[in-house]
Amino acid sequence: MCPHTTTILTVDDSSSDFKVLSHFLKSRGFKIVVANNGLSAISLAQKSLPDIILLSIMMPGMDGLETCQRIKSHSKTHNIPIIFMTGNTDIETKIRGFKLGAVDYITKPFEAQEILDRIQIQLQLKQMQHILQRQNKQLQQEIAQRKITEQELRKIQAKERELNYKLEQKVAARTGELVHTTQELEARNQELQRSNAELESFAYAVSHDLQAPLRSIKMFAQLLTQEYQELLQGQPQEYIEYITSSAERMENLIHDLLAYSRAGKNEQTWLPISLEELINTSIRNLEVTIKENQATVNVGNLPTLMVNPTEMTQVFQNLISNGIKFCGKQQPLIEIGAVSDEDNWQIFVKDNGSGIDSKYHQKIFQVFQRLHSEDDYPGTGIGLSICEKIVKHHGGKIWLESLPNQGSTFYFTLPKNLPTLQKPILELKQ
Ligand code: ADP
Repeated sequence: MCPHTTTILTVDDSSSDFKVLSHFLKSRGFKIVVANNGLSAISLAQKSLPDIILLSIMMPGMDGLETCQRIKSHSKTHNIPIIFMTGNTDIETKIRGFKLGAVDYITKPFEAQEILDRIQIQLQLKQMQHILQRQNKQLQQEIAQRKITEQELRKIQAKERELNYKLEQKVAARTGELVHTTQELEARNQELQRSNAELESFAYAVSHDLQAPLRSIKMFAQLLTQEYQELLQGQPQEYIEYITSSAERMENLIHDLLAYSRAGKNEQTWLPISLEELINTSIRNLEVTIKENQATVNVGNLPTLMVNPTEMTQVFQNLISNGIKFCGKQQPLIEIGAVSDEDNWQIFVKDNGSGIDSKYHQKIFQVFQRLHSEDDYPGTGIGLSICEKIVKHHGGKIWLESLPNQGSTFYFTLPKNLPTLQKPILELKQ
């Protein structure tokens, strides 16, 4: 503690020793407050709150012991260290003084350096006490704060446990529901697959069995024409022609239906093959149609992909022949190309034909759905359904963009890495 900020109260009935002492302490920089008796010491102590009191025991009126007791009994001055200054004091008085709260005794004759040292010790003790008290207070505050935090934490943990419990219950309930729904869906899916398979094999069997009686009808109609040509002139001849053309139409329908039920079941090996090569095969198959209609087919760069060649050739052939067939009044121009993203190739087949209203864009992929009459354009309405089935079988999807009289672009995707789970499928016989 620095002397310049330290106040010392000296209490004595003006003995010469005390005067010398006060003078000495002043010279060392301490601020000195002087009291000549006990009463004025009590009042000055409360007023100036000194850092230390040097108190003489022997004083007229109130002696040093009583003065000490009264200073110590007051809360404001209770903590001020008091050093007794005395001549020769018996041991009992000293003990009483300590009991009353004195911290030290200095006995005459006063030694300046000794007094200074003792004052310094007391001041340091007081300062340390002060620091300890402050730290103690701080610790108490921290403990109180920690207790509050702990309580809050416990509350939060309890809340968290409750929430967790509720959440677990909800998750368990939801999982139960999901498992149930998944099981139901799986069951329905299996049922659907079974009835689909049944329907397809029924369609296949019926179509197949219809072929023989149909061939007989056609054959007998031909026999009638050949053998009774002269008898069957006029209307009978016309009727027989109707029978023949209807039988042919039915034959086409059966042929396409069989193709549809076989599509996606081709057992032929899947090969990494250039799509350009498949398109060239389709173009060769359509050579007559292309020539008759003076159609142009432009083919851009196309990738080599793992596909089922027979099926994929069928897709290109259907889309190219539709583009030529539904050309309207234009000279048919077909453009084929491909773009790719990270996972898929997107193939397009674009024509400059009659176009299709957007309300039919989904419908035309269904079996037997046609937007044109048989008289205008021959066909069975199965070609696009076959395309969709094959593209799906390759893990892709098919769609179109088109507006009436503005041509159509059919798109389909093929994955770059063919899913390994493709089912082996039956060969599509033309
Ligand atoms: P089909 O060609 O035997 O009639 P599809 O399933 O191939 O059967 O086509 C269904 C219908 O969709 C066609 O009848 C036609 O009305 C329409 N369509 C298909 N492709 C085109 C096209 N490129 N331009 C205009 N219309 C088309």
